[in-house]
Amino acid sequence: MKVLVIGTGAREHAIVKALTLDPWVDAVIAAPGNPGMDALALCRELPQGLLDGEGVAALATELGVDLVVVGPEAPLVAGVADAVRRRGVACFGPSAAAARLEGSKAFAKEVMATAGVPTGLARVCTTVEEVASALDAFGVPYVVKDDGLAAGKGVVVTDNRAQALAHAARCLDKPDGRIVVEEFLDGPEVSLFCITDGTSVVPLVPAQDFKRLADNDEGPNTGGMGAYSPLDWAPASLVQDVVDRVAQPTVDEMRHRGMPFAGVLYVGLALTSRGPKVIEFNVRFGDPETQVVLARLATPLGGLLYAAAVGKLDEIAPLRWRPEHAVTVVVASKGYPGSPRTGGVIEGIAEVDDDVSVLHAGTALGKDGSIVSAGGRVLSVVATGADLVEARDRAYKGVDRIKLKGSTHRTDIALAAQRGEIVVPQ
Ligand code: AMP
Repeated sequence: MKVLVIGTGAREHAIVKALTLDPWVDAVIAAPGNPGMDALALCRELPQGLLDGEGVAALATELGVDLVVVGPEAPLVAGVADAVRRRGVACFGPSAAAARLEGSKAFAKEVMATAGVPTGLARVCTTVEEVASALDAFGVPYVVKDDGLAAGKGVVVTDNRAQALAHAARCLDKPDGRIVVEEFLDGPEVSLFCITDGTSVVPLVPAQDFKRLADNDEGPNTGGMGAYSPLDWAPASLVQDVVDRVAQPTVDEMRHRGMPFAGVLYVGLALTSRGPKVIEFNVRFGDPETQVVLARLATPLGGLLYAAAVGKLDEIAPLRWRPEHAVTVVVASKGYPGSPRTGGVIEGIAEVDDDVSVLHAGTALGKDGSIVSAGGRVLSVVATGADLVEARDRAYKGVDRIKLKGSTHRTDIALAAQRGEIVVPQ
């Protein structure tokens, strides 16, 4: 099988790496890729960018690939998967219509309501006055979400009413700006990726990510600063519960609406005292959770994604998992998530131990062949170990070898779990 992977981040680097380890996959091409993927796979330009469905479809046809895997949400929402399928090429990733589950939080809430999926109470607002009234109805902490795509930065959770209103006003200023104000959901968060062909659902293993920039969950929300898996503190019934109460009803509802969802439904949950509740749906693999989930997947990835793309997920044997724990720590540029500084030389990648992966995100090749920073999240350092202590230790030793002036990372990824401090409210 020949596979084309669309994207530029550490998530796509992890996918490319897993595909190259699949004995059924004999060629992987990444577009546009990054210097990390370039070391494993052929990288091709996308002259009109990631959102150009016809450009992606033309490249897939030219290369004669059997499968296209679309990594990020923006191309999916823009209809890239539709354009690829129109050329008769199998594509892992939902149609534009189905990708609205991530493209509009209001749409996702409506689907959840119809499908009876447990989630927080919410109000959709189009004016600052409506937002103000919703804030008062739900009380503190305030949760204010941009309705549309915002690269993980559209959500503000705050006790400060003025800050909540200011965020809402900024989002409402955009064309067709809409806001979702939601009740605050307490309890630890879990991400569960559910692979689906539009009918069957195959869950992967749960992971936990760290959205805030700084240790102790301080600082602004980011795209994600680290992750780990498995979650030893989570109830044993969690995965089946989420499939039965969230993923399967959502997939069924989308099919009944005539917009079948095929790809990966990323279910972001809070484990509250009233049971698991959906915080968000995404329509693609999460970054950085993918880096730890795929580090543990023993089943070859290509066959699984292909089965989902061609409606044959029911023929897949039960997934196999490595027993190891996996931890990833994201190294970000100075100034991330506001205005990341780019162009800094990155040193030390080659000195990281062989059993630790350094996955590239915002990197580029410098003029002299050095690797330089080119974005906010720069690298994802991934390690596995017999337990969290060992996995964390290896990951942080890897991070310590990497030198990028002004770079930042969290020092407490998976620390509370390692210490047994995470409690699911009863
Ligand atoms: P989202 O983009 O919807 O995942 O939101 C980003 C982050 O904001 C989540 O990972 C949570 O940490 C937080 N968040 C979102 N919605 C809520 C909520 N209703 N209650 C508490 N925290 C939330």
